[in-house]
Amino acid sequence: MVEVYFKSADTPFAKDALFLAIEKFMEKANINKNEIVAVKLHMGEFGNVGYVRPVFVRKVVDAIKKKGGKPFITDTTTLYGGKRGNAIDYLETASVNGFNLASMNCPIIIADGLFGNDEEIISVNGSKIAIAKAIFEADYLVVLSHFKGHGMAGFGGAIKNLAMGCCSKNGKLWQHEVTKPLHDSSKCILCLKCTKFCPAEAIYEENGKIKIDYEKCRGCGACLVLCENHCFYLSEDSVKKFHERLAIAAKAIMEIFKEKVFFINFLMDITPRCDCCSFAGRPIINDIGILASKDAVAIDKASYDLVLKEAKKDIFYEEHKIDGKLQLEKAKILGVGNMEYKLIKI
Ligand code: SF4
Ligand code: SF4
Repeated sequence: MVEVYFKSADTPFAKDALFLAIEKFMEKANINKNEIVAVKLHMGEFGNVGYVRPVFVRKVVDAIKKKGGKPFITDTTTLYGGKRGNAIDYLETASVNGFNLASMNCPIIIADGLFGNDEEIISVNGSKIAIAKAIFEADYLVVLSHFKGHGMAGFGGAIKNLAMGCCSKNGKLWQHEVTKPLHDSSKCILCLKCTKFCPAEAIYEENGKIKIDYEKCRGCGACLVLCENHCFYLSEDSVKKFHERLAIAAKAIMEIFKEKVFFINFLMDITPRCDCCSFAGRPIINDIGILASKDAVAIDKASYDLVLKEAKKDIFYEEHKIDGKLQLEKAKILGVGNMEYKLIKI
């Protein structure tokens, strides 16, 4: 049974303040003096407001410094359009969203370099995974994840943050090459917006029908989120393959860090979609709290169970028609972590 620590969002008194839990959680992280610690965090797309709040991240940074570690906050560039596609745009967006040297008291380094190609290749299960170099080179990894819905993974938490979040553009492309969408023309009103927002210019109109050029498509999923008529969708087979690739990429990161990794999941502002969207949307459930563990699968399973318990149904499946448990099962089979956990309330 893996230990998963839980601090409820129910905070009736000052002594229960949520950010105080971060100090207690971080006592469990086996960080040594002078170790370079990558604090992996999605700092939010420009316009999104659902990402992990800066005050929690600062608390993590302070706790690492107290242990003598040398933290830096990090994330990787994206595959799609938006304001995080290269390191300059990302650092500007991060600063607007509250993450900079002054507020965090540590450097922010975009781990896959200026254009997302700074990488190291790791072989796992016969696949070559491109890992963002600054993450690869760190001594210790602390993974901070906003637990919320996700259009391709059902939900996004620690596994998704490890897998997609720690890879360079090539690593992301490999995971996304199995998620090229299908198009349902019966729902389409031919507004042609998708032909403009596809970052690969893969969508076009021909003889009154929307077509996808699969040679160009990167499988980024932007069309799944942005078409207001929900015309784009994934086949069951591509969802399964995507979850399998997520698990393989997560395994690659775990091969690098082994025991030198710690996870914190934030079950707050639980939005239907991920923080890559340029909007957050209304949370679909009340805040639940914060969890911490040394095991990515256990913390995601515990997070998922708590959301289902609070909602009394699978709100992620209801939203996306994708079973998020698939990523847990695939990750468990590959040895990323364990499903069995013991919830310890603090
Ligand atoms: S955005 Fe959606 S509704 Fe508009 S043309 Fe594209 S597929 Fe059709
Ligand atoms: S067609 Fe959709 S999934 Fe493919 S690149 Fe364009 S927006 Fe991304």
